[in-house]
Amino acid sequence: MIVKDLANTDILNLTKRRLVALIPVGSIEQHGPHLPVSTDSDIVSYIARQVSEKNGFLLLPTLQYGVSFEHHPFFNLSVSSPTLEKILIELCISLSKNHVDRVIILNGHHGNLDALKKLPAKVAKKIGIKQRIFVYSYWHFMKKEFDHAGFVETSIMLAISDKVMMNKAEKGLIPDSLSKKELSQLSKKANKSFISVTKNGVWGDPTRATQKDGEVILKEIISNLVKESQTCLTGIGRKFHQ
Ligand SMILES: [Zn+2]
Repeated sequence: MIVKDLANTDILNLTKRRLVALIPVGSIEQHGPHLPVSTDSDIVSYIARQVSEKNGFLLLPTLQYGVSFEHHPFFNLSVSSPTLEKILIELCISLSKNHVDRVIILNGHHGNLDALKKLPAKVAKKIGIKQRIFVYSYWHFMKKEFDHAGFVETSIMLAISDKVMMNKAEKGLIPDSLSKKELSQLSKKANKSFISVTKNGVWGDPTRATQKDGEVILKEIISNLVKESQTCLTGIGRKFHQ
């Protein structure tokens, strides 16, 4: 059920049932020379739509803007963590006023994590615990390591979008040969300045990405998320996924 496509009466009828709302949160930021800046928003929107169709959730429009200051001087359209947090708090309160007391927030961008981690507690402080909020980041539902415009993101985009320019894809920082310590140091640095670590804005190697790999990864993520989002609603789900 896609909320933006429904008319008022249809939504009011729906909210008489115990509805679950799903809010995808993305970003607009550079994804190397071969992927569109909407990559995170595109991926999280696709996954959210599949999960909401399978579980009968009410799908809200994707929040396209996230916290992406770390990509400067590459292109990014960013809001601060407190701003993103505030928008989501107010959306949850608004949903509650519309009798929707179960909300799943699906995140598609690492830089948004700070804005999301205290959200359930902050909403509870404002409107009490009658509303239950669950926060997930999609990359915790796949076995492969998360990257940025590398093999994983590029493969997923090949599976869902016609905007990938594989002829422009180039290797970026390849983390495979790094020790755990080096990796954690570089990740911290990249969270402040992505360009200083990756040079070309790519974390990983997109050159061998394929549509088929993207389909396999998406299938894994969607099936795990479908299961987890049913489990959390029965009260035995895990807490916030870092
Ligand atoms: Zn991304």
